[in-house]
Amino acid sequence: MLTCAWVRRRGQGVLPDDFRTQLCASIAGGRACPLGAQCQHAHAPGQLRVDAAVRRGLLPATYKTALCAAHLADGAALA
Ligand SMILES: [Zn+2]
Repeated sequence: MLTCAWVRRRGQGVLPDDFRTQLCASIAGGRACPLGAQCQHAHAPGQLRVDAAVRRGLLPATYKTALCAAHLADGAALA
């Protein structure tokens, strides 16, 4: 069970299914988010909950499941 300060402050026991499954519209628009850390949306791609987004159909089931062919074709080192 996932919990976080955001959920505890709202008296819920688990994260809502849509918690951080989409990028914050303010951040995506190049603006500061008025909710800051209280925002339920991701402020960076690394904050996205991919598993929940796939379950909700927001991302394809194959999202980030294979290495990028273009990256490998360039001979770039894996990081
Ligand atoms: Zn936000």
